[in-house]
Amino acid sequence: MYSVRSGYRVALGMEELPGPSDYYRWKSWWDFLWKCCIPNKIKIFFWKAFHGWLPTATNFGFRHVQVVDRCVCCNGTGESSAHIFWFCKLAKSFWKQLLGVGVFYAVKEVEFSCIVIDVFAKVDRPIFELFVLAYWSLWTNKNNLVHGAGGWDAKSIADWVLRYRAEYHNAVVFSHKDVISCQPIFVHRGANSVAHELTQLALFLYEPHIWMEEVPASVVLFVLKDGAALAF
Ligand SMILES: [Zn+2]
Repeated sequence: MYSVRSGYRVALGMEELPGPSDYYRWKSWWDFLWKCCIPNKIKIFFWKAFHGWLPTATNFGFRHVQVVDRCVCCNGTGESSAHIFWFCKLAKSFWKQLLGVGVFYAVKEVEFSCIVIDVFAKVDRPIFELFVLAYWSLWTNKNNLVHGAGGWDAKSIADWVLRYRAEYHNAVVFSHKDVISCQPIFVHRGANSVAHELTQLALFLYEPHIWMEEVPASVVLFVLKDGAALAF
């Protein structure tokens, strides 16, 4: 029987190993995704898609919910994640617009989680980020159609992905420049959460960190200044 976990192991050529090793494999996969330069809401969407947790018509069918399992984009039968993101007529046309026809030869899998792992093994992080944004755009377009808002053609979706990615990267880079150029003397107690967010941004820390060796001087300085502010 197929499962996402077994598909993951097969795709990576891993043996079935119980216990902590599984945890570390999944953790490294999650760490990779979490470090991608894309908004958190899109990472969470992608994590759900990878695990087969998106509310597609096919998934509803698996849960014995009565729905018409038909793709709203092409009217074909079987609205699975793999269909929406790869095998739908609209998706195929979209990928050609975005990455050319070569992308179809590069992807050898048919299950969505296996396709993801296949792509993950073949491309570097910036291109992987483009894939994740592409999945998000196809999903958003599908939902717009479901809710009667009208969908886009393949070229419009591809243009949106490239524009969104460029704008998001610029926003992150400019934010870092702006924050690094600031020279705070101390931080008011009430502004602690904002200060911590700004520090994370300035130091490129996107998750909690524990330093096993010496803590970076810039972090020590911030903690001291923040502590001083708390004394007021
Ligand atoms: Zn379709």
